[in-house]
Amino acid sequence: MTDLTALFTTAAQEAARFRTALETRPVQAPADQADSLRRLDVTLPHAPRDPAEVVEQLIDAANPGLMSTPGPRYFGFVIGGALPAASAADMLAVGWDQCAFNGSLSPAAAAAEQAAGGWLKELLGMPSGAGVGFVTGAQGANTVGLASARHHLLREAGWDQEAKGLWGAPRMRIIAGMERHATIDRSLRLLGLGTDSLEEVGVDGQGAMDVADLARVLRSAPADRDHPTVVCLQAGNVNTGAVDPLRAATELAHEHAAWVHVDGAFGLWAGASPSLRHLIDGVELADSWGCDGHKWLNIPYDSGFAFCSRPEVQTAAMSYTASYLTRSGAAPGAADFTAESSRRARGFAVWAGLQELGRQGVADLVDTCCRHAQRFADRLEAAGLDIVNDVVLNQVLVGFGGSGAEADATTDAVIARVQQDGTCWMGGTTWRGRRLMRIAVSNHLTTTADVDASVAAVLRAVGDAA
Ligand SMILES: *Cc1c(COP(=O)(O)O)cnc(C)c1O
Repeated sequence: MTDLTALFTTAAQEAARFRTALETRPVQAPADQADSLRRLDVTLPHAPRDPAEVVEQLIDAANPGLMSTPGPRYFGFVIGGALPAASAADMLAVGWDQCAFNGSLSPAAAAAEQAAGGWLKELLGMPSGAGVGFVTGAQGANTVGLASARHHLLREAGWDQEAKGLWGAPRMRIIAGMERHATIDRSLRLLGLGTDSLEEVGVDGQGAMDVADLARVLRSAPADRDHPTVVCLQAGNVNTGAVDPLRAATELAHEHAAWVHVDGAFGLWAGASPSLRHLIDGVELADSWGCDGHKWLNIPYDSGFAFCSRPEVQTAAMSYTASYLTRSGAAPGAADFTAESSRRARGFAVWAGLQELGRQGVADLVDTCCRHAQRFADRLEAAGLDIVNDVVLNQVLVGFGGSGAEADATTDAVIARVQQDGTCWMGGTTWRGRRLMRIAVSNHLTTTADVDASVAAVLRAVGDAA
């Protein structure tokens, strides 16, 4: 018999060792994917092996290729660092090996999602009656939101999408800002709506939707059942952090009988901070929302939330048994709010993370990250660098040496040097035709000292690249 206590202890000790070392380990992994593959692409054994030996080998082979993404000085993409209790809860979810399909397969897993789902709605300022699906991330959540929109609007138009598909259905209008996230486009491709259905709305200098232009686009077709319309709004532009004017845009869209979906992967968390809540004013008026747990809430990967103001629409669009549910009157299970059937028990980690932080802790996490972002901007600007965005949230865009091909090359060289240096990790982005360094502060571990050490690393890299 395998000694499970010893085996799981090895795994937990290694995880704790890695996380404790993040303070001092270079942020950039020493091994790249090709190196990692050489270590991991060993012969597949014919006969079973000792589990303890397998785990030891995995630890050795994987270690050089582990990025310090959960650490305090990783500022690439929008990546949170998993909270301690949430991490331990996720280890339990794996150890318990529960299937979160419904309450009969795992009463605890389903109930953890219910309880945590209620807290999430309260923190984010959502309607308390909204449906919540625990999904893999905002990509999954955007797909659920847009599938709910598709179901509702086509049913209103007298079309049973779930039975007939889209062949012969009224053509749907999908209206979205020019700086929407690429996951919206992927959801449209997956849902058979296609990116050619997109009608783009102009944005302001920070990438937030221009409501006057939204009015123009909405007016270009009649607001009736023959023109089922979805308006996709965004809370948190992945480059600038800008939030669309949610109240004005939603009210306008609703006057045109449109469904409003808000992609708020990280930006919706502004709602958990009393000092930033004004940024997402009117968010509760929308019809569906996508949000991430693994970004700003610092829940381990993967974790996202699909909210829908009408739970019965969400389950009619998503449920395992489709319209059978509504006909039978059976209560929907946890998986009926998502696109999956058998699912990882994601609710435990969210439950633990929210209990660990409390209402005040979530607000402090959001506020502190924003304060650090502002400090980055102030310090880098004082050193003569170009801060390209209005720092309203946790995102900072930094330019090096103006615009043009030469400046772009300098920017990429600085980013490469920062990554090699290992103090911190920033990525690059192309925004409005210009290469920029993007700094996203989303980790509960980051301190002022981490920001200052990272600013110094960027300035060193600028000196070296000159
Ligand atoms: C990150 C992000 C997404 C995608 O989220 P995943 O968690 O990667 O699925 C969607 N929209 C926005 C605005 C994002 O920042």
